[in-house]
Parts: sequence; structure tokens; C-alpha cells
Amino acid sequence: PFDVLIVGGGPAGAAAAVYAARKGIRTGIAAERFGGQVLDTLGIENFISVKETEGPKFAHALEEHVRTYDVDIMNLQRAKALKPTGSLIEVQLESGATLKAKSVIVSTGARWRNINVPGEQEFRNKGVAYCPHCDGPLFKGKRVAVIGGGNSGVEAAIDLAGIVAHVTLVEFDTRLRADAVLQKKLHSLPNVTVLTNAQTTRITGDQKVDGLVYKDRASGEEKRVDLEGVFVQIGLVPNTEWLKGTVELSKFGEIIVGPRGETSLPGVFAAGDCTTVPFKQIIIAAGDGAKAALGAFDHLIRS
Ligand code: FAD
Repeated sequence: PFDVLIVGGGPAGAAAAVYAARKGIRTGIAAERFGGQVLDTLGIENFISVKETEGPKFAHALEEHVRTYDVDIMNLQRAKALKPTGSLIEVQLESGATLKAKSVIVSTGARWRNINVPGEQEFRNKGVAYCPHCDGPLFKGKRVAVIGGGNSGVEAAIDLAGIVAHVTLVEFDTRLRADAVLQKKLHSLPNVTVLTNAQTTRITGDQKVDGLVYKDRASGEEKRVDLEGVFVQIGLVPNTEWLKGTVELSKFGEIIVGPRGETSLPGVFAAGDCTTVPFKQIIIAAGDGAKAALGAFDHLIRS
């Protein structure tokens, strides 16, 4: 069996693999797609000490770093179940194989919920964005929309209002669902327009985004807003469906972790975007992966 088996090969999993392997223990990493979300990212400008890089380049560097150690990399492997058996933990893969380990680190990340309207996929990274911390500065002085009036949408709108020329917040429902204090702050900003009862139907453009079309749900009328960017903020979904009933999850499906990445199941640790750790960012996920690996190592030397 592995001493540490990592499931997920994004920044959290890669960091966990390096930290575990450096302890000289038997380390494996199974990932559906090594690299994770950064493979879908264009520019990265906030990984401290790397002024700027591109997602695929960064993903390649993660893999290269892991490969300098004796780590068993199992790419294109999707885990479908985890269960404790005696003193070991079993991870079943879709391929039919079963891996056994003394400890497991889950780092399966998350995915942004899509709005699924024409234009969203076509203009991804060409005006359609999901992460205000990452891509906000690219829209400096421009007009953007934020789709979604929950906490993340309203936080994004407040954040972006300080950078861009104008923000239009588009909410499907008749009212915003964000906390009152956030709504109050939002309404105090001079360069924000809030549209409620508005269903986004299309994101338009030629090479890049040039507008957003929505249906006014009260009148049924279609209206258009001219802008250069659209931030979709209708939820981040953790990739934890396969863990339901085994480790404790939050109401959002995030794995509940303690300060060392420990989960409700002894020997099972978790790190990065799939957990309750706040703020989903590369540098945070990587630090979190390192922490979970040290947590797992600590667990191993005590058991
Ligand atoms: P992920 O990167 O999501 O990796 C998860 C890994 O688990 C992948 O290898 C995946 O294939 C694998 N996996 C999932 N399910 C299974 C399963 N069942 N079995 C096996 N493997 C599985 N952050 C920044 O800091 N700066 C940025 O500029 C930035 N830009 C972004 C742009 C975009 C378009 C997106 C989508 C995100 C961006 N982020 C950015 C966020 C950042 O990418 C994430 O916070 C970070 O990748 C999280 O790392 P992670 O390792 O926790 O998860």
C-alpha cells in the first residue's frame, strides 16, 4: 500500500505530493487531469514570486516538480469511491482498479457553475471570467457585468467596482440573496447598477465580449447592456460527489477540514478548493496541500 495516496493533481495535490515524497514515504497521486483548473486559465499573475505565467505552463511546471521525486503518478484516473478497510483506506477508480493506502489526501478541487447561455464558452477568457481576484485587473477602466446576486456575486461586484469603470449586477430572482451588509455596501457605490428579475440570455461579441442580453422577466422584453466583460458568479461546486456518506461535507458539499487538513475520517486528509478552506486560489491551495501532507505524515508516525 501507499503511505500517502493523493487524489487530485491540481496545485493542492502537487504540493502535497512534493511534501510527502520529501519525507521518503511511499507516495502516489491519482488525477483525472493532472494540472487541474489551471489548465483552463490563461494568465496567472498572483502566484507570489512568479510575476506572470500561463495556466498550461504552470500546470506543466507542477508536474515537472512532482516528477523530480519518487512519486507514482497515475494520470487520467478518476476516483469513484473511498472506504476504510481495517487499518487501510481503499480508493476505487472508475477504471476498476482499487488503490490501498495508509493515508489519503483528497484534493479534487472544484468547478465554476456555468450559466449555459450562448457566448459563455465561445468567449471564455475573451471577456467571460469567473474569478474576480484573478481577472479583475484585466478589466481596469472597462465595463463589466456580474451574473449572480448571492454573496459571491455581490462581493465580486463590490471588488470590481473599485477597479473597473462600471459594474452591472444581474440577478435572475426578484431580489438579491447576499447578506444585508454586502447589499448596503453595493447600493452605496456610484458605479454599480443592479438589475433584478433579469434572465441573462446571451453574451455577445465578435472576437471579444461586447455585450450582454437579458430578458426583463416582468415585461418579457429583451434588453442589451454594452460592456467588455462578464463575471459568472453563480456558484463554485466542489468535486466531492464521490465522497458523500464517507467524509463529512458542508451544506455546500465542501469537505470539512481541521487545521491540519484532517477530515472526519481518521487517516483521510483534504486540501484546496474541495474543502471548507476559504478563498479558492492557487497559492492558497498549494499551501493547503503542503499542510495536509504534513498532517498526514504526522498521523503516520503516530499510528
Ligand atoms: P484543482 O485545480 O481543481 O485540481 C483538482 C484536481 O483533481 C484535478 O487534477 C482534477 O482532474 C482532479 N479530480 C477531480 N475529481 C477527481 C476524481 N473524482 N478523481 C481523481 N481526480 C479528480 N487562481 C489564482 O490564484 N490565480 C488565477 O489567476 C486563477 N485563475 C483562474 C482562472 C480560471 C478560469 C479558473 C477556473 C480558476 C482560476 N483560479 C486562479 C483558481 C485556481 O485555479 C484554483 O483555486 C486552484 O486550481 C485550486 O487547486 P486545487 O488543487 O484545489 O484544485
